Amino acid sequence: MQTELGSGVDFYVNKAIGSAMESPGVEAIGAELVEVRWHGRGGQGAVTGAKILARAATKEGLWIQAFSEFGPERRGAPVLAFNRIGANEIRTYAPVEEPDVVVVIDPALLERAVLRGLKAEGWLVVNTPFSPRQVARNVSFSGTVATLDAAAVSREASLPPLANIPMLGALAAATGLIQRSALEEAVFETFRASLGEETARKNVRAVNLAWSQVRIGHYLDPGSTEEENECALPSWQELEPGGTLYQPGSARDYLTGMWRSSYPLFKREECNDCLRCWVFCPDTSIMTNEGKVTGIDLQYCKGCGVCAAVCPRDALKMVPEN
Ligand code: SF4
Ligand code: SF4
Repeated sequence: MQTELGSGVDFYVNKAIGSAMESPGVEAIGAELVEVRWHGRGGQGAVTGAKILARAATKEGLWIQAFSEFGPERRGAPVLAFNRIGANEIRTYAPVEEPDVVVVIDPALLERAVLRGLKAEGWLVVNTPFSPRQVARNVSFSGTVATLDAAAVSREASLPPLANIPMLGALAAATGLIQRSALEEAVFETFRASLGEETARKNVRAVNLAWSQVRIGHYLDPGSTEEENECALPSWQELEPGGTLYQPGSARDYLTGMWRSSYPLFKREECNDCLRCWVFCPDTSIMTNEGKVTGIDLQYCKGCGVCAAVCPRDALKMVPEN
């Protein structure tokens, strides 16, 4: 059953099919009810991820909820999505305040605030090329951290650089909440229905790649002594050399266009091709051909307005995103 509860809230609930106790999932994580909070931006698929996770859980006979929360609805705005997955009927419909698992789809959102309410023994699953240790230290989290370079997984699976499906694989593999076969089925069914079999297969491949590539670690054991904590810090051999790019061309994967709330409207007839906008644009989003401005690359233009501010003519004007 799926119902819309007014703007900004999308609620998806389903009854369990079969016996919840047949699934090791919820027990594997050590709780009768598992609550998951997803952090992403509009357009990154956090809500879809939560719905597919719920779909997979029903295949294991579990009770589920999936719902989302967002402010002004627009691409690039921070979005929260939630799951409750339980062995028994779920009777609460309150917001998730103390999640067992936090999934961060957009690494730019990773800061201490995303840990709000996350249980100390919980799971933090982050889309990042960094190691669990580096993430745990950055946000001072002593639970379990799982990291996955979701963009690399999507590339390998020949998919656009969307992180939600790889992150589903990482979440399930790291926590043991859902079996791989159930997740594969749920992903396949979802994408076959909307985008066809070939895309569905690529997404299943992304789940499997994520399953094998996710890295899991604990940072500091809260019960360890200070001396042991000291040993948990990386040695100089483990530190990555500064100023090194590990993934050539990685900036291509950061579609900063999703941050935008307004965009520069370009009027060709007013432009004298002075190229001031091209010089000042911090995201190399002014497109040119043989010294003439041809338009704006909206995949990467983040809407800062610098180009319009430096334009000596009326050729660029910031207008709100529609
Ligand atoms: S708004 Fe900012 S990012 Fe976009 S084209 Fe202009 S200067 Fe570049
Ligand atoms: S700054 Fe304005 S006039 Fe100059 S090239 Fe850019 S759009 Fe054209």
